[in-house]
Amino acid sequence: MQFKGTISSKLPQVGTTIFSVMSKLANEHQAINLSQGFPDFPIDPELISLVNQQMKAGFNQYAPMQGDMGLREQIVAKAQTLYGQVYDPDTDITITAGGTQAIFTAITALLREGDEVVVFTPAYDCYIPAIELTGANPVYVELHAPNYAIDWSEVQKLVNHHTRMIIINTPHNPSGTIWSEEDMLALEKLTRGTDIVIISDEVYQHIIYDGQPHQSVSRYPELAERSFLVGSFGKTFHATGWKIGYAMAPKELMKEFNKVHQFVTFAVNNPIQKGLAEYLKTPDHYLEVTALFQRKRDLFIEAITGSRFTFSPAQGTYFQLLDFSNITDEKDIDFAKRLTREKKIASIPISGFYQNENQDSMLRFCFAKQDDTLLKAAEIIRGI
Ligand code: GLN
Repeated sequence: MQFKGTISSKLPQVGTTIFSVMSKLANEHQAINLSQGFPDFPIDPELISLVNQQMKAGFNQYAPMQGDMGLREQIVAKAQTLYGQVYDPDTDITITAGGTQAIFTAITALLREGDEVVVFTPAYDCYIPAIELTGANPVYVELHAPNYAIDWSEVQKLVNHHTRMIIINTPHNPSGTIWSEEDMLALEKLTRGTDIVIISDEVYQHIIYDGQPHQSVSRYPELAERSFLVGSFGKTFHATGWKIGYAMAPKELMKEFNKVHQFVTFAVNNPIQKGLAEYLKTPDHYLEVTALFQRKRDLFIEAITGSRFTFSPAQGTYFQLLDFSNITDEKDIDFAKRLTREKKIASIPISGFYQNENQDSMLRFCFAKQDDTLLKAAEIIRGI
């Protein structure tokens, strides 16, 4: 079919996401797919059975707009136990169709044309298009290998009276780094006395290594009072295809959020919410995720030892960056595509997460995979 009129694209720079592009290429070439971030192992049968029971019990009509109350109560209780912050399940939380919808909704509910938003790059790909759709302007803080550290005096220089929002993400996709307490305190100081709203993308909150604490905004009352905390069950329970997450914030922010949410999705999949509410009653279900991925990270980095790639072990997320500057001068996208075609292993080039021409020679590999898959992948990596 063909549209004969003229279209002035609202997102002229945007094509198909790098995750879809690389997954498609991996399938075409029957490559091991460590590109798009999703587990290749099954979810807990108990969770499937809990959701199934809810469907059979007849919970197949609309959930309340803000989400199932039982699930909201469980999430709020978890935040209080783990991070010490009290959220009201009535007013301070909404269940969303994944973390991406929560982020899109918060951005579109709050931003206006001409507003500025501080974004740290490399950045997950959904932030910037959402900002641009509102007519606001992203302002970039570029972070680089090896440790993606933040120079807070640089951030300070970018903040002015147009700054409406700051988007943060720890544990961080794609670098696998985490924020420290010092980073959180610097952010607290920077935003003190302003109307700046923070979106804190914490979808990898339970995927963090070596006993490090997760620096949630909800550990810092002053930050929590200006933040949307975004979480995701797809990440925590290996069910990325379920597309279910949440946003938590003070009620004044959630009120504006819900004005948009109700016209984007209205409400999210009811039986899955009810099943998750039951499943969350056992804290081990989310606490055990940390040890599972610690083991996978350790197995993967051990298995690639001796390769020509260099790396710092991921501190969080299920992504490992590998530096290929000892191997080739190719652009990361060309190298990633060539490895998929010729060596049958797919990864994500880090340039997909930067706005400017990226100079770093980094590929991102997802290790949320069965041990067998990881060992096969590592053998290929050692031979590159
Ligand atoms: N979050 C996943 C990743 O970083 C991808 C999700 C998607 O394909 N949009 O790989």
